[in-house]
Amino acid sequence: MHTPLFPLFADLRGRPVLVAGGGAVAARKVERLLAAGARVRVIAPNLHPDLRVLVAARRISHRPCAFTPEALDGAWLAIAATDDAATNRAVASAAGERRVLVNVVDDATLSSFHLPAVVERGDVQVAISSGGAAPMLARRLREKLEVLLDESLGTLAALFARHRSAIRARLPDLPQRRRWFDAVLDRLAPDLRLTANAADAERELLAALAGAGKTTARGSVTLVGAGPGDPGLLTLRALRAMNDADVIVHDRLVSPQVLAMARRDAQRIDVGKRVGDPIDAQDRIHATLLEHARAGRRVVRLKGGDPFVFGRGGEELEFLRAHDIACEVVPGITAALACAAYAGVPLTHREHAQSVRLITAHTQASLDTLDWRALAAERQTLAVYMGVGVLERLRARLLAHGRAPHTPFALIENGSRPEQRVILGTLADLPDRARAENVRAPALLILGEVAALAEPLHWFGAAPLAAPPARAQAAA
Ligand code: SAH
Repeated sequence: MHTPLFPLFADLRGRPVLVAGGGAVAARKVERLLAAGARVRVIAPNLHPDLRVLVAARRISHRPCAFTPEALDGAWLAIAATDDAATNRAVASAAGERRVLVNVVDDATLSSFHLPAVVERGDVQVAISSGGAAPMLARRLREKLEVLLDESLGTLAALFARHRSAIRARLPDLPQRRRWFDAVLDRLAPDLRLTANAADAERELLAALAGAGKTTARGSVTLVGAGPGDPGLLTLRALRAMNDADVIVHDRLVSPQVLAMARRDAQRIDVGKRVGDPIDAQDRIHATLLEHARAGRRVVRLKGGDPFVFGRGGEELEFLRAHDIACEVVPGITAALACAAYAGVPLTHREHAQSVRLITAHTQASLDTLDWRALAAERQTLAVYMGVGVLERLRARLLAHGRAPHTPFALIENGSRPEQRVILGTLADLPDRARAENVRAPALLILGEVAALAEPLHWFGAAPLAAPPARAQAAA
């Protein structure tokens, strides 16, 4: 069963915490509580030698008896670490009645808080939870992180802590401060390992602080391709830009899984457009980008797929350059490439297709401007964006210009996402197949001889939906 847990780091200094049990397990918990400055009380008939030492040194208090509910009086937290299941249950239920959070060692279902596996580097702590479901996994992860995180991380945190108020005073504006931190960290600890010794690092930090805040922040816009939905298809540059951003302006097409990779405290603005939106939606996006960049913020304009493939990235870049805003473009994996790969359809193939065309045809005007004679040629692949609403017209034009009715197609809905569907058929029955399977946007149409390869080559998600055999269709 899944238990949603709220992660928190508690300040227990001077706060009473009850530990029921006096064995080796209890002793380990007591040690951690003391390290956090808690006032530990132990209730147990017998004590482990380590605990006896602590009692003698007056670092913990001890009641030498079995658990009784009054022992919880005044406690903020309780830990049940006895070797008797009935006692542990009694502690859990008495704590529940008193609204004291309780952890029962090795019993997630009785616990109202869990103790995470922890990696510590000075003030930096990484706490890992598997929701109680797989403590082994959490432990394993901890071992990996122990290797990964350098000892100097603690020194680094202490350094920043020491100069915290000076840094705040010098750089009162949060985005400005963040940028300064990034620059200093890039120099001092590019991979979170201190590159200099602590004294040198401190000198560098002070020098950087002295020079800080003299230049005014210059805003920027980065057009970032977010790919088709699978976060694994983001580029490293895209990830970096999303982590550096003050503001993220995104489309409806950008998947929640991708958005979850962005910095948590970046401001997010959804400018999702739907077909049929008023014309000025794009103007509104331009105005939003300009406003934030001019205020000195780092803006990421996050777009599904690639910004320059049917994403109006070109217009946005023109607009921003005309207004003298610093810009960058990070390409993304466009829907045609992603859908083809995830459906097992090679876009070109020595035996079937020597060229690919990316086209869109979502309005009458765009349909009329296309060169249908060229599009109907054989041995080429068409990748049609935003085509779900115009399949009927698409079929009519292609057939009229000579494309064979038996040309295979693959229609890929939600390509690369867990809910991906691939619908197969031929040009002759294209709109009917889409209707029968109730295909919704976002979907990409791949038309051409290669589309038939989805049947033998598919590897991701559900098997492709092929048309029922002609005989069965006739009988139905
Ligand atoms: N810039 C985007 C395209 C935006 S136009 C890119 O490079 O991919 C929107 C169209 O892209 C949709 O109508 C659909 O045809 C296609 N599309 C985008 N993401 C898709 C996905 N995950 N699966 C299928 N089609 C997708």
